[in-house]
Amino acid sequence: MTGATSAGLVNAHHHLYSTLARGMPAPSRTPTTFPEILELVWWRLDRALDLEIVRASALLGAVEALEAGTTAIVDHHSSPNAIDGSLDVIADACAEVGVRVVCCYEVTDRNGLDGAKAGLAENERFARSGRPAFVGAHACTTLSDDTLDAVCGLAADLSAGVHIHVAEAVSDAGAGARLDGRTSDDWLLAHCVHLDRPLPGTIAHNPRSNLNNAVGYGRPARFERVALGTDGIGSDLFEEFALAYALHRDDDVTAVPSVAWEWLHAGADLVPEVADDVVTWSYEPIDPWHIAYTPGVRPRRVEIAGDCVLDEDGPTRVDPAAIRAKAREQAQRLFARMDDL
Ligand SMILES: [Zn+2]
Repeated sequence: MTGATSAGLVNAHHHLYSTLARGMPAPSRTPTTFPEILELVWWRLDRALDLEIVRASALLGAVEALEAGTTAIVDHHSSPNAIDGSLDVIADACAEVGVRVVCCYEVTDRNGLDGAKAGLAENERFARSGRPAFVGAHACTTLSDDTLDAVCGLAADLSAGVHIHVAEAVSDAGAGARLDGRTSDDWLLAHCVHLDRPLPGTIAHNPRSNLNNAVGYGRPARFERVALGTDGIGSDLFEEFALAYALHRDDDVTAVPSVAWEWLHAGADLVPEVADDVVTWSYEPIDPWHIAYTPGVRPRRVEIAGDCVLDEDGPTRVDPAAIRAKAREQAQRLFARMDDL
């Protein structure tokens, strides 16, 4: 088989629950700010999720990850009307496909005190089952000090990091001040576009999502530890790398792709097991100057922990056509439920 090999790639910030969002009905009015995008689009979608839709969404997201050579997903989940057991549904779906996943449930006060408590309980229940986990939190804008304290307290009890959106838009620019003194090296800080200070933890940079939401460019090169995520828009990390490089270049014409290449590989610090995974690519060399300018590089074979989970015919453990058919059917159910909200 021709083509270079590499270790597995890591999607450092994903929302598997939004895999079925493509083609969803338009919001009641056109959002004009980031908080309106959350309210009119994403918080309408997540409230319509049930566990059957969560499962179909995770299965499709896991298949699409494998098809892009991504062997590990760091997921950030929200399904406010189906919280209990949701992380098991996601972890089981990924295990079926053969993809590694680190789960968390996004704690928030936007669905009341009971919603926040149920989110904390789901994080705790799942983490104590021994499966890879962060403690999840939405963003400082929807967390009271008490709830933020509870998130930090639970993470300390579990010896886990916290996975949270930080200063994604101007509306959350105060996050640095709220989190200063609370974060530690094992935290995963998504976006940090408007973060006004360095904080301990890994920054997950999501270039396509930031463009899609028009939140600005966070100049991630100013931070020490940066990994790449997709924020729910697929799991093609080579594409995300090329975009991260293009944005870096737009900001500084002397930028070289080796910087974004380091970000791409820093995901392995979050899921070190990917060093055991082997991806054989359709192209060689797998090198920053080549991948930054070569579209359509795909894996021909993916081995995870010694098991071949994708070969020239596609995923080996599941039937991708059946997963896509089920996803289409569940997407229609999801859109109908969104209309009823
Ligand atoms: Zn996100």
